[in-house]
Amino acid sequence: MTKPLIGITTYRKPGERKYVFVSVAETYVNAVMQAGALPVLIYLGLPPEDLAHLRKMLDGILLTGGGDIAPHLYGAPEHLQIGGVDLDRDHTEIQLTREAVEDGMPFLGICRGLQVVNVALGGTLYADIGEQVPGALRHDYQRHTPQQMLPTALVHPVQVKEESRLAKILGRPLLDVNSLHHQGIRDLAPGFTPTAHAPDGIIEATELERHPYGISVQWHPEWLTDLAPMRALFASFVRAAANGSK
Ligand code: MN
Repeated sequence: MTKPLIGITTYRKPGERKYVFVSVAETYVNAVMQAGALPVLIYLGLPPEDLAHLRKMLDGILLTGGGDIAPHLYGAPEHLQIGGVDLDRDHTEIQLTREAVEDGMPFLGICRGLQVVNVALGGTLYADIGEQVPGALRHDYQRHTPQQMLPTALVHPVQVKEESRLAKILGRPLLDVNSLHHQGIRDLAPGFTPTAHAPDGIIEATELERHPYGISVQWHPEWLTDLAPMRALFASFVRAAANGSK
């Protein structure tokens, strides 16, 4: 059987002098390969018709983590804590999401990916959980964190909704996760079910109803592939892509 092609979204990374790199953390690529798929990096800056052409050749889309989404795209004002915006990336990922939804193509959103999927389908975000959600736990372990603290650190639990597809995939209702985000879902987009929550009520996973596979998580399973439930998440996505409508 030929391996399914999984498109992985990328970001621009400034390098030495004025070079700009197209980049993505290798952990995503490795997790997709480990799950039995062939990863294809999706570059930024493609004209919309070329991006649509490329997407049609793929079997699934992995929307990766990264900087913040431009707040005007979900009707919010600028906020001092918002950073790392790349409008080109926003437009690329929003187009990919909307087309995957229309086409019934499997997608998996991770961290920023969960947020992009929500914004693409009409939801909104907290610009900064720490400032906008009183009593919230700390979620932004990517900031001001001791050097010895790795992205693999399990820092808060999530409660997974019983009977959800995600619960069946992960095989347990409660699990500890990493947390490398300062934003989160405020208003959930229509058509989505929240399928996992942190103890403070922050949405940690969503599923698109009436879609072959539209799962997103706020944590970073690609750093946690030593754990069986996280491998099962990638395996379920790749299986859905392999069984896709193409
Ligand atoms: Mn979190």
